[in-house]
This record gives sequence, structure tokens and C-alpha cells, in this order.
Amino acid sequence: MNDLLNAWQAVLTSDYLLTDTATLSTYEQATFSTTQRVYAVLRPETVGQVQECLKIANQYKTPLYPISRGKNWGLGSRVPVQDNCTILDLSRINRIIDYNEKLAYITIQPGVTFRQVYEFLKEQNSKLFISVIGGSPEASVIGNTLERGDGSGPLGERVAHVCNFEIILPTGECIHTDFGRFANASAKAVNRWGVGPALDGLFSQSNLGIVTQMTVWLTPLPKFFQTFNCVIQDSGHLSNFIDKLQPLILQDAIRSNCFTFWNSYKFLARQGRYPWQIMGEKTPLCLKELKRFERWLGTGCLYSASREQGLAIRKLIEETFTGQVESLSFMDQDNHNDLLINNSSLGVPTDQNIRSTYWRKKTSLPQNINPDRDLCGVVWLCPILPFDGQVITQAIYTIETTVNKYGFEPNIAISCISGRSVQIFIAIMFDRDVPFEDERAMSCHDHLLQLLTQDGHIPYRLGIQSMNSLPRTQDDYGKLMQTLKQTLDPNDILAPGRYDFRKDWA
Ligand SMILES: Cc1cc2nc3c(=O)[nH]c(=O)nc-3n(C[C@H](O)[C@H](O)[C@H](O)COP(=O)(O)OP(=O)(O)OC[C@H]3O[C@@H](n4cnc5c(N)ncnc54)[C@H](O)[C@@H]3O)c2cc1C
Repeated sequence: MNDLLNAWQAVLTSDYLLTDTATLSTYEQATFSTTQRVYAVLRPETVGQVQECLKIANQYKTPLYPISRGKNWGLGSRVPVQDNCTILDLSRINRIIDYNEKLAYITIQPGVTFRQVYEFLKEQNSKLFISVIGGSPEASVIGNTLERGDGSGPLGERVAHVCNFEIILPTGECIHTDFGRFANASAKAVNRWGVGPALDGLFSQSNLGIVTQMTVWLTPLPKFFQTFNCVIQDSGHLSNFIDKLQPLILQDAIRSNCFTFWNSYKFLARQGRYPWQIMGEKTPLCLKELKRFERWLGTGCLYSASREQGLAIRKLIEETFTGQVESLSFMDQDNHNDLLINNSSLGVPTDQNIRSTYWRKKTSLPQNINPDRDLCGVVWLCPILPFDGQVITQAIYTIETTVNKYGFEPNIAISCISGRSVQIFIAIMFDRDVPFEDERAMSCHDHLLQLLTQDGHIPYRLGIQSMNSLPRTQDDYGKLMQTLKQTLDPNDILAPGRYDFRKDWA
């Protein structure tokens, strides 16, 4: 093993090969209990160094686990899926390679964060924005894309609005997707698919390559911007409301990723802390027991090309929502000057949502938020469902009753990613300092995952602890994955276990 470390050290210099216990333990920490140990951490600065590190890993047949910024909080943070991996931390490879205001794109490396893109666009006086996440401003745009994460705003389904990946294969070879393989291709940053079989899809939620560059499409700031909020009295009224909303999104009156619902628990966690005093130190919080309504708050954004267009859509929404919601209010940029300032729906990253991970903590909020370090308990579960009121409300009933049974609040957000489907984000929030909470939260997660998948509601994204928990598939998918993995990664060194569905066939 000394030979292995020496070989990596020769590529990286000693400052960027880390093996001390204190550093390794920070890479072993997530927002839930994990047992994986990390062998070492490599922090390359160039793509060439990534290639060299991979070649050495192949020579010694030792597993490498790439991360870009490692802010995958609630889904595993920086922890590898399997034990004894060396982490390839790409955060130092952080250049903005290209940017085009007219064609609205930016080409970046994996260490580039949401904050970095925001600051860069501000410096350029750009009229464009990147759709940002509710997660950390210091998260990686590429890391988020490769998890098929989502942001708010019209291009929020990130993986659908990127192209031109540069990928280092597990053997150290380099490929480009779409038109990127032709050195002089004029459309490489502006077209998905290119010519021939499209490969991008193989490299998100996978362990088949390391993405070292990507072009991300940006959204023009709207000529006229409005937001609207509506309150739905309780889950009983939700089904009808959803069925009224769905056609508006299908017809693009409200654009994809521009409308979300939060239940009261999600809203309360975003606003502050668990009401320990009111509850007399008891958990979980149950609003019904306190004779309060379990309301849903719907929030939408309208990005319009003119005031007239915006007001016409507003009228349509008012007509559709009348009688369906308890209250409906609009704000527009003419009446509310501050609407355009520090608005996360216009690409300004914020850590406001991350603060909610301290929901059950009794300590004060630190300056530098870090849920891993502060033992904030968070486990996400993210099923995707058809956009149908009855189907969604039935699933919500399953979620609420199960999460409650385990002693947690059903913290639920629903994001309308298209007129056909919604993503449900369930956050199980707890305090890791409280004995046995880790075990209870994970049992809750596992039970709920089982119930939802039984009903056909499969998660679109998985935490490191649940890579093996999906039902067996009914076709030859696993066999094909086995062939691809064997071909591209003959020594099985890249991120073993990460979205690794070979077991379906074996
Ligand atoms: C309160 C809260 C709110 C959140 N809100 C959102 C949200 O709105 N939307 C959302 O999508 N997520 C959200 N998250 C989840 C998470 O924080 C984000 O998805 C975040 O972007 C992931 O961290 P990262 O970008 O640093 O990626 P990383 O942690 O660096 O990467 C994620 C995984 O992708 C793989 N990977 C990373 N880089 C590479 C690479 N270059 N090549 C190959 N594989 C790679 C690795 O397996 C890695 O573990 C939220 C989390 C919390 C706690």
C-alpha cells in the first residue's frame, strides 16, 4: 500500500494526498449513520492528474470515489457507497472555461459552485441566470447535475439542459459527448445529442466515468417577473387543486419547475426550529393535535417576455384557482421592487433552506453551516409520481402516517417538474445527538421506501444507503449494465456500488 500512496504522491505532491485520521473522518461523516471507512483523499488540480490517479488505481486495483464538492447532504454527503475507497475530490478543478451571453451557456469544471456561477454572471453584467438549488450555494453544478438534481426556474431539470460532457473513463481515456468529439464543431455547446448514439445519459447517476467538464444552459432574466402564493386548506382539498393546476403546466402557462407545494411542516422547518417549549419537549409535532390546520402552501413564478404576456397568464391562473384555494396573492416587479433582489428563483443562491437541517437541534445556529459536522440528522426520500391528484394525495397519506408512526414530522415538498410528473421530496429530520434517532430515522426511511415502491412510486434518486433497495427489474437491464461496466471499468475501480444495478442480473 505504501507503493500505491507513493505513486499517487508523485502525481499530486504531499499537500494534496491526505491520509491523516482527522481529515479522513470528515469525509466519513454524513447526515445519517454510516460505517464506510475512507482509505485516502486525493485532491487533483488538473484533468491530467485525474487521468494519472485513475491509471494508478487500475494498476493497484483499488477503488476510487469521485466527488465534486461533496455537499450531497441528506443523500450521503461525501461518503462513498462502499468501504475502503479513496476519495477523488475534484473541488480544486474549478475553472469557468467558456461563457456566451447571446447563446446563454456556460462551460465549467466540477469544482465550480452555484455561488461561483452567480458571482461570475454578476461581474459580466449578464442578463442570464443559473437555476439554483435549495441546497448549499457551495454545492457543485456538475455534482448536482450528475445526481440529476433540480433547481427552481424554467431550466430547473438540470440534466435536461446540459451537453458537451468531457469524461475521463475508468481506464484514464478521455471522451466528449454530443458534438464535443469534433474539435471544430460549432454547435458543441448548444445542441444535445450530436450525431450518433448519445452517451450523456450513461454518465449521470452512474459509476462509468468522471465528468471533468460540462456545458450548462442558462435562462434569460425575464422581461416581466411575477410570483404568486396560494394556500390550500388541508390535504383534503389538495387533490382537486392538483387536477386544476396540472393542465396549466401541461400547456406551459406555468412553466416546468416553476411551481412547488410545501406542507406546513416543511414551511415551519424553513422558518425556524422545533417548538420544544410549546410541545413540552415531546415529539413529533402534530398540528392536528394542536387543533391547527395542516395547510399546503403553493408558490409559483412566472417568467414572461412582456408585461402583457405576464398579466394574461396571471388572469388565467386567477380564474383557474378561484374556489380552489383559501387565498391567492400575486407580486410583480413593478409593484415590489425588491422582487428582483436576492431572489433564488432568479439564480441567487442562499443557505436559507439548509438552515432547516437544524430543525430538531437545541444548539444555536452556527455562522458556518455544516449539517455533517453539527450532527444534524437528515435523510431524503425522493419518489417521482404521475401528476394526478388522487395518486399524489394517496401517496401523501402513506408518507404522513408512516413518518408520524416513527416519531418524525412529515416534511414534504412537491415540485412540478412537468405537466406529466411531480417529484416528492420527503426529508426526515432529526438530531443525531439524541441516542437511537439515527436507527429510528433509517427504519422510517426504509419502511416508507418499501411502501412507496410497492405502490409503484420509485425514487428518481437514491441515498448511498439505499442503492440496493429497489425492486428487481423484469428485463435485461442489469445484464447490459454488467456488460457496460466490465467493458469500461474492467478492474471495477470506479465508485463501486453507486447506482450499480448489475446485481439485478447476477
Ligand atoms: C436542505 C437541503 C435542500 C436541498 N435542496 C436541493 C435541491 O433543491 N435540489 C437538489 O438537486 N438537491 C438538493 N439537495 C441535495 C444536495 O445538497 C444537492 O443535490 C447538491 O447539489 C449535491 O452536492 P454537490 O453538488 O456538492 O455534489 P457532490 O456531492 O460532489 O456529488 C454528488 C455525487 O455525484 C457523484 N459525482 C460528483 N461529481 C462527479 C464527477 N465529476 N464525476 C462523476 N461522478 C461525480 C458522486 O458519486 C457524488 O457523491 C438539498 C439538500 C438539503 C440538505
